[in-house]
Amino acid sequence: MKRTLIVGNWKMHLNVAQSSLLVARLHKHIDGHRDIEVVLAPSMVALQPISTQIDRRRFRLAAQDAYHKDEGAYTGEVSFHMLRDLVHYVIVGHSERRIFFNEGLDVVRDKVSACVRNGMTPILCVGETAQERAGGETKQVLHDQVVSALSNLTGVEVANMVIAYEPVWAISTFGGQIAKPSDVVGEMAFIRHQITELYGSHVSKHTRIIYGGSVDDHSARAYLEIDDCDGVLPGNASLNYHKFTGIVDSAYKMNRDKKDD
Ligand code: PEP
Repeated sequence: MKRTLIVGNWKMHLNVAQSSLLVARLHKHIDGHRDIEVVLAPSMVALQPISTQIDRRRFRLAAQDAYHKDEGAYTGEVSFHMLRDLVHYVIVGHSERRIFFNEGLDVVRDKVSACVRNGMTPILCVGETAQERAGGETKQVLHDQVVSALSNLTGVEVANMVIAYEPVWAISTFGGQIAKPSDVVGEMAFIRHQITELYGSHVSKHTRIIYGGSVDDHSARAYLEIDDCDGVLPGNASLNYHKFTGIVDSAYKMNRDKKDD
C-alpha cells in the first residue's frame, strides 16, 4: 500500500530557531503512522540542525531546491550531491522556481536527474497558470512538463518518485484561488495516464501523485479522497501548527475510516 504523503513546504519562512520550535511542537502531536508519511521542507539553512532534531520514524526531510551539478564554481548554489545524506526528498520545479527564477523544462529535467542520480526522491511540481488554463492549454502544459522532466529516468525511478499537481492559480503566492476537487480530478488522472503511456501501468500505479494549492486543515480530506491523489503539499498552512497537524489528522482519519469500511 502507498503511504499517504503530507509535505510541508516552509518556503523562505522561519529561521533556524523558529524552525526548531515548530518541529518541537509537531513532535508532541504527530506520531509515527504506518500509512502516513510526513515530510518537512524547511529552508536550506535549517536542514542540518533539523536533521539532528527530528525523530526519523515520524518525519522525513525535503530540500526545497538544489543545483544539478555535483560540485564546481557555482557561487551560492547547493548541489543535490551535498544533500544526499541529509534529506530523503527534494522539491523540483516548484512554480515559484519556474516563474521567479525562470527555470525552464531543461533545468527541471536536469534537476530531476541529478536528484535521482544522488539517491534522493524528487517531488516534481507541475501545473498550469491561470492564463494557460483559460486558453485550454492545461493538458499540453502538463504533458510537456511531465514528459520532459522524466525523460532521463527508468521505469523503476519513475515508480519511486512523487509528482505534485499544483495548479499555479491555486497556489497562495499566485492568488490562491481555491480549486474544488472536481476542478483537479481530471488533471491528476491525466498525469497518471501520461506515466502509463510512457512506462506502463505497472509503473504508473506506484508513482505517488499528490495535490498542492492552498490546502489547509479544512480542505485536505476532500483532495485526499480523489482516486488519483496520494497526498497533499501545503505551503502556507504548513507554517501553522494547528493547520498542519489538522491536515495530518485528516489523512489519519481518512485512512482509519477506509479500514473500518
Ligand atoms: C506550495 O508551496 O507548493 C503551495 C501549494 O503553497 P500554498 O499551500 O501556500 O498555496
